[in-house]
Amino acid sequence: MKKKVIITRNILPDGLSLLESHGIAFDVNLSEKPLSYEELMEKACNADAIISMLSDNIDQRFLESNPHLKVIANYAVGFNNIDLMTARALNIRIGNTPDVLTEATAETALGLMIAAGRNFKGANSAVNDGRWKNWGPKDHLGFALRGKTLGVIGLGRIGMRLAEMAASAFKMQIIYTANSTKENTFGAKIVSLDELLSQSDYISIHAPLNASTKHLIGKDQFQKMRPHSVLVNTARGEIIDQDALIWALKEKLIFAAGLDVTEPEPLPLSSELLKLENVFILPHIGSATFEARREMSILCAKNIIAGLNGENLISEVK
Ligand code: NAP
Repeated sequence: MKKKVIITRNILPDGLSLLESHGIAFDVNLSEKPLSYEELMEKACNADAIISMLSDNIDQRFLESNPHLKVIANYAVGFNNIDLMTARALNIRIGNTPDVLTEATAETALGLMIAAGRNFKGANSAVNDGRWKNWGPKDHLGFALRGKTLGVIGLGRIGMRLAEMAASAFKMQIIYTANSTKENTFGAKIVSLDELLSQSDYISIHAPLNASTKHLIGKDQFQKMRPHSVLVNTARGEIIDQDALIWALKEKLIFAAGLDVTEPEPLPLSSELLKLENVFILPHIGSATFEARREMSILCAKNIIAGLNGENLISEVK
């Protein structure tokens, strides 16, 4: 009998063709909505593997109810939606999609640095709501990138690529935090988080979400930032205490923020963040290039094929 994979959203077709060519059957959720927890639970009962999205909650109860699963390939590099300890105990292999989305996500972070630092939201809304009456020498002023200091929280794959872009294209000085020193070609220096917050003109978050990074940036941290600084987050919304961010933006403790991730997602229309002009928000599109999403589709399929064959995954979360 053919092995069967549940694919929780309609991913680009490249990976599906690969699964097909390996004789693997799949059930793709073709709707525009994620499967509910219970819907996925029901489908998983008679499946061998899952291609999951970051919005799927693969928790202890889910895994313990489905110990027959051989592999779960997350369509993301982050895996904070999966209970790794339980997966390990049940011998269910977990895959992710590092590297193939690095360029796209670093580009998104750079875009947010510019959009927030140059006040694109306020300027664009003036165009849309008829406040653009003439050209004004002091209208919509923002800050330049060139020669400024960029603090990267988490100089891993994406943080490193953003730092390379910023150093080469904008001659930015790079400082960073990480668990260990990272070799680099542009003179980036490791510093403490407090030093990074107080010395950076731009701060970009690229650490994973886990128990030690949840609400890493809260009221105390905003008080250490420069009033002209711009905070960008393309990692996970929960790394920032969002109430503290709203407070910091209102009190002008920082100049602006650019967010690709929020808490929760989607952000409700009632969120105070949406009323502020100095925050530019995207709906979690960090890896949303045709190129990256195609490669992610292929990598997930390769992880599934390897896992179903009892081999090491191409990219395995241990
Ligand atoms: P990565 O290569 O694992 O890099 C993460 C870096 O964070 C590592 O260098 C790590 O340092 C550092 N780190 C860990 N804990 C830290 C802490 N407490 N303080 C400061 N740095 C810390 O991961 P990546 O591929 O760059 O991806 C980073 C994150 O981006 C993912 O976890 C995911 O959540 C997010 N992401 C979002 C999107 C999007 O669509 N918006 C797309 C892709 C990824 P050590 O190496 O020293 O441990």
